[in-house]
Amino acid sequence: MKVAIAKETAPNERRVALVPEVIGKLVNAGLEVLVESGAGEGSAIPDSAYVDAGAKVIPTSKVDDADVVLRVQKPSSAEVKKLRSGQTVIGLLQPLIDPQTAQALADQGVTAVSLDALPRTLSRAQTMDALSSQANVGGYKAVIIAAEAYGRYFPLLTTAAGTAKPANVLILGIGVAGLQAIGTARRLGAVVRAYDVRPETREQAESLGAQFVTLKTQIDATGAGGYARELTPEERAAQQAELNEVIGGMDVVITTAQVPGRKPPVLVTADAVAKMKPGSVILDMAASALGGNCELSKAGEDVVTDNLVTIMAPENLPATMPVGASSFYARNISALLLQLLKDGALNLDPADEIAGPVTITHGGEIRSDAVKKLLQPAEAKA
Ligand code: NAD
Repeated sequence: MKVAIAKETAPNERRVALVPEVIGKLVNAGLEVLVESGAGEGSAIPDSAYVDAGAKVIPTSKVDDADVVLRVQKPSSAEVKKLRSGQTVIGLLQPLIDPQTAQALADQGVTAVSLDALPRTLSRAQTMDALSSQANVGGYKAVIIAAEAYGRYFPLLTTAAGTAKPANVLILGIGVAGLQAIGTARRLGAVVRAYDVRPETREQAESLGAQFVTLKTQIDATGAGGYARELTPEERAAQQAELNEVIGGMDVVITTAQVPGRKPPVLVTADAVAKMKPGSVILDMAASALGGNCELSKAGEDVVTDNLVTIMAPENLPATMPVGASSFYARNISALLLQLLKDGALNLDPADEIAGPVTITHGGEIRSDAVKKLLQPAEAKA
């Protein structure tokens, strides 16, 4: 079976689906690995490193000869048209955000396997969990960017020229990215507080050296699969009022809160921003065209408010640390590929607890019920 690594074409995407370190395992499993020339450039991997690892470099025109195409991001509509029936594409295809691309792949007879549909709580799927590996990179990079934008020190520093107070950092949302952000901010010497609506996160945050922020309004919004549920309007109002008081005293706020399939909750209101000191920094990791965790954030932009608070909403943070992010992603995607491989071909048994959920389209049909539902006309969904 021929497996090709495609060069990513999405704007600012510098990651690559496979790095040379994992190619030996795939070759040993009987796969022929092809690499689109220049695929690794954004991640500082020359074509020659892939060749040394046992892969063959091919021109763009030959990528679609492969049986399986490995990618980071979903193919563009032009790339979908070039895929052929019977071919498989594996990547972070975001079928719940963009079900139309899944439909286009099904119409084309392409099998779509998406890493973001992996059952993340299954222990044998942990090595394949690209959402976690990339959120981890994002949480780390968010702190580095916020620390750079903050015009003071993160650690307590005593010098002959005076003493610098440590930065007060607040992390909102203690999932994978939030935990990495806590650890990184602590390692830089900040005083870290953290908050989440899932009570089990208290112990996780404390074990990394953060102080858990307890609100008087007790909210337990534990939802299915370890995720949070959406808050009721009353819970949201109570949470915002109390968080406003805490946020005012913070130097740096990093927000990571998401609710699957929903607009991210607003945790930092315009009123809260108005209470912050000049020079404070907010970094909103949840911002997208749908909105973000901060009422004033603009996806992809840095905003400086009238009271001189910088609000940053960088998009696709993992792509800004492409070498580290690609290396983790390559382990995730190669582990999934090897898991799906049986007798030299992909075995996408719908009853399998990993192959079932990750297979979004197959044989010209959409297999995922969640994606099918999104593609139904509005009246049929109700
Ligand atoms: P996510 O990106 O969906 O959300 C980030 C955090 O935001 C979550 O902790 C969520 O509780 C929080 N949040 C949502 N609404 C909020 C609100 N209104 N106020 C404050 N916080 C809010 O989450 P994620 O990082 O993808 O992780 C989600 C879950 O999956 C976690 O429980 C994580 O431990 C679990 N997980 C488990 C495994 C595993 O078992 N192997 C692997 C990965 C993730």
